[in-house]
Amino acid sequence: MTDSRTPQTTDRRVEIAAGLARVRSRIADACAAAGRNRAEVTMIAVTKTYPAADVVTLVGLGVTDVGENRDQEAAAKAEQVAAAGVVPRWHFVGRLQRNKVRSVLRYADVVQSVDSVRLASALDSGVTSVGRGRPLDVLVQVSIDGDVARGGAVPDSTDLDVGLGPVTEAVAGAGGLRLAGLMAVAPLGWEPERAFARLATVAAQVRMDHPQATELSAGMSGDLEAAIGHGATHVRVGSALLGKRPTLR
Ligand SMILES: *Cc1c(COP(=O)(O)O)cnc(C)c1O
Repeated sequence: MTDSRTPQTTDRRVEIAAGLARVRSRIADACAAAGRNRAEVTMIAVTKTYPAADVVTLVGLGVTDVGENRDQEAAAKAEQVAAAGVVPRWHFVGRLQRNKVRSVLRYADVVQSVDSVRLASALDSGVTSVGRGRPLDVLVQVSIDGDVARGGAVPDSTDLDVGLGPVTEAVAGAGGLRLAGLMAVAPLGWEPERAFARLATVAAQVRMDHPQATELSAGMSGDLEAAIGHGATHVRVGSALLGKRPTLR
């Protein structure tokens, strides 16, 4: 990883600015097409595999929210970014093992990938034991196709650990956590329209019991328009901003 103090080349800065301009205009167009206010949608720049210097550049261009999916990489990057005097809002969006909870709590403002009662409890105890002082914002990850192997709590399941009802109840009832809303990834092989329409139905059901769960994190580089059409308040964009990642992950 490049040191964040290494000045970034002008070429890279120009490339990132161009990517950002394209993504911002896609978001604006999608909001217009859906009859939504542009201010309702926040872009999270997903910077996994990219160096801290790219995060610093993005923040300099007005990006406020950054996402990472692996603790080891994120912890080091957050430290480098902070050393550069830059403080974005960090979202953890990847699979989270319970033994990584304490590390993630050191830098994450939001955890978007809570998909079991056991993980919610581990985060809640972690918040208490690190003396965080304010609750952690949590999005419950939803499995749109019910395939638990790929992550996500399962709607209409009575499973006491991974059923969506039990997970949202656990987060809402935890003093150290704030249930901010839901997150999902469109399943492989699903039309984004169909996936995000189903997600919108699930989100409306969750809001009947938990009206505070207003955020909906859905849509990535390839499908952000469909997600915005179905009510996404947060889109998580990586490759369309920063370029194709060297490895698929
Ligand atoms: C990598 C990743 C993204 C961004 O994906 P792109 O297709 O590069 O925009 C969004 N959400 C999650 C959970 C990710 O892991």
